[in-house]
Amino acid sequence: MVILRKKKLKLFFKILFFILILIYPSFLFISFEFKPQKEISKNLKSSSSTAAKSIILMIGDGLGFEHLKLARWVEMGKNNPFLVEKLPFHLDVTTYSADNLITDSAAAATAIATGNKTNNGMIAVSPLFKPLETILEISRQYARSTGIITTTSVTHATPAAFITHVKSRSNITEISRQIIENSSINILLGGGKDHFSASQLIQLEANGYNLIENRSELIKANSSNIIGLFAPTQLPYEISRDEEVIPSLSEMTTKALEILSQDPEGFFLMVEGGLIDHGGHANNKTNVALETIEFSKAVNNAISFSKSRNNVLLIVTADHETGGLRILNDTLNNVIPSSNKTPEENRVIRFERINNISVSWTTTYHTNLDVPFFGYRIDFYGLNNLSVIDNTEIFNIMKAFISDGSINDSDFAHIILIGVGITGFSIAGIVILYSIKNKKIQKKK
Ligand SMILES: [Zn+2]
Repeated sequence: MVILRKKKLKLFFKILFFILILIYPSFLFISFEFKPQKEISKNLKSSSSTAAKSIILMIGDGLGFEHLKLARWVEMGKNNPFLVEKLPFHLDVTTYSADNLITDSAAAATAIATGNKTNNGMIAVSPLFKPLETILEISRQYARSTGIITTTSVTHATPAAFITHVKSRSNITEISRQIIENSSINILLGGGKDHFSASQLIQLEANGYNLIENRSELIKANSSNIIGLFAPTQLPYEISRDEEVIPSLSEMTTKALEILSQDPEGFFLMVEGGLIDHGGHANNKTNVALETIEFSKAVNNAISFSKSRNNVLLIVTADHETGGLRILNDTLNNVIPSSNKTPEENRVIRFERINNISVSWTTTYHTNLDVPFFGYRIDFYGLNNLSVIDNTEIFNIMKAFISDGSINDSDFAHIILIGVGITGFSIAGIVILYSIKNKKIQKKK
């Protein structure tokens, strides 16, 4: 009787181990699919991490080398670089999309946000419509706060590629729906109020956002979750912006950095100078110059923020060139805008300088010209010997920076499951060997 019970018990354990071995791979699969999402409310913070790292990604939409040169000649003079041009790291970036040598903003932003090439018009999905994980979503997995700022509508291609996954950039209804229902972004500033219904805006406030509509509300705001929609669609160009009512790109950037930097776990912030591209499409050198100058001011704010900290990666780049701009010649003098002149005097000087530079355009669309890349605190990523990178590499640089030296929740889950798996296999092996040995002994007897 005792021998029979022992045999039954052995058989039971053998079957149990085989079942465990069979179902183990499905545990692994589940763990790889598991992505912990951070709640919108960040009032409850567990502990501060020493590995906290922040990323500021600044994209001049349509900003080519000549656009930057035009703005520099107007604002700084021909021989004085912008602060961003003095950053230690310079590269050229290729911008082609999966289906075209000339990219649009959707495919370019998808490449930068996800590290994957896709077709023109597609927002953070593959050419086969598979959603692609964005650097903003990865940042949330690492418990970072997140922010998006643009001078276009917040539903426009570049911002949308970081926070939504949509087959077509023209499906604004779906983009705004995903912004409301799926994204857990902390700071979202730009235009596009008309792209949200009244009930969606009410839902945003119910979700804990401080919804603001003008510059004075932005200045006062101190919530860690803010959505600012300052115009019905895109924000006005710098040339016609009411400075009392609508915040500038540099003001929005400073405010976002002030709020996001309160998160001890770090943050991800994307800032887009979105109207440089619109100026390029219109072949309007004045708007290109003024929008690029404002973008450079936002960049200056981000540079001084980054330099006062030791854990901020700053990248300043563009999604593509717009217009095929070339500077031909100039009749510039030495009088440039400066802080000891009045804003009105500086405005007049800028217009005079723009008029004294003649330019040519080759298209009212984008070109496949390489675009600039400036970096701060990225020289340890093995890029020192390169002069050109593809736009997908920008994602890889950010991902490497954020994941360096820290393990996120799902990585930790994988390590535990792998450990459990190895132990399980070992025990099963020992039991099988032991039972075979026992059988042999019993046969000999
Ligand atoms: Zn464009």
